[in-house]
Amino acid sequence: ELTMPVYLVTGAAGFIGANYVRHLLEWEADAEVVAVDYLGFAGNRSNLDGVSDRVVFEQADIADLDTMRALYRRYRPDHVVNFAAESHNDRAILDPSLFMRSNALGAQVMAECSRLVPVRSHVHVSTIEVYGELPSRSACFTERSPLNAKTPYSAAKAAGDQIVRAYMQTYPELNIRMTHCANNYGPFQMPEKLVPLAVTNLLRGRKVPVYGDGLQRRDWLHVTDHCAAVHRVLHADLQPPPPEAATAPELLPIFDVSARHEVTNVEIARRVVTALGMDPSEWIEHIPDRPNHDRRYLIDPSKIETQLGWRPVHEFDAGLVGTVDWYVEQRPWWERILETKGELGFDWGAVRP
Ligand code: NAD
Repeated sequence: ELTMPVYLVTGAAGFIGANYVRHLLEWEADAEVVAVDYLGFAGNRSNLDGVSDRVVFEQADIADLDTMRALYRRYRPDHVVNFAAESHNDRAILDPSLFMRSNALGAQVMAECSRLVPVRSHVHVSTIEVYGELPSRSACFTERSPLNAKTPYSAAKAAGDQIVRAYMQTYPELNIRMTHCANNYGPFQMPEKLVPLAVTNLLRGRKVPVYGDGLQRRDWLHVTDHCAAVHRVLHADLQPPPPEAATAPELLPIFDVSARHEVTNVEIARRVVTALGMDPSEWIEHIPDRPNHDRRYLIDPSKIETQLGWRPVHEFDAGLVGTVDWYVEQRPWWERILETKGELGFDWGAVRP
């Protein structure tokens, strides 16, 4: 008897989750997808409009064990990818509790559901930011780096990571894996994040706000490359972690994902302005920095490259220009978001946390 593989994807109405669902339907011709999202601030149901009749949408909170367990029992997923998280550093400063619920408790509830109603594989999607701020110009984070988060967003993600690591080691047969990814750019990102904020401001005759000196350095990767990495980790044939993993986290099924492409925030702003044929000296304004802003992160993807053969395929310059074009062409998509959510972007000169 042939049965279709069932994927349960959380955070599916958000930026990366929606991109992943769209790619998954192409990569796996017979996959059925249960798309879960509680439609929080960054959730946008229309990101999945008309994608396919192989997708069922379920509005649910991943931090609610009874609800999630009922969804697992109903759909019996083969594969689970947990993208759901509150993701905006600025918002986390104003409302840290919301972030603890989704990013820490939510991570545990998802792992617990995959224990109670076993699946073939489960990927917990995390971020480079759990490693904190990179101390020197030369070093890179790797899977061996200690978690050292310092912002409410990244600390909540790190708490989720820590509990997922505990599940990996306590229940090694469960096939729970994890990724830490660099900053993503691409279509369907909420216009409160740098790239779409810049495009949507410029197209409305407003300047691009850059925090502080804009010299915060970030590691940038196209969202499609991230989705491919997650998919590869989900399907990798991995042995359960050995006991030595207790003191050597690089032996756990954790994979750091990056294109090794480091760019300052002000350079991202300049490139977006230039891609729209405008003059950076006129269209960028420096505004007060947000409190406790990480200066730099960079992550070494050698493990996923050598062990799983993953490589990014999107070249940064072309990828960024393609992304800017997407927001230019999809103006009705972001205008509707701005109409319903109000103006996005934070002014830390005016807001007091
Ligand atoms: P996003 O904010 O665009 O999307 C997250 C989605 O999760 C939203 O639709 C939101 O409604 C949903 N969600 C949040 N809490 C939920 C809950 N309790 N129950 C159900 N749904 C919930 O964020 P994104 O940029 O797509 O990030 C997705 C994941 O990737 C996150 O785990 C994030 O930490 C991680 N990540 C993001 C980046 C990046 O550059 N954007 C980089 C590395 C890792």
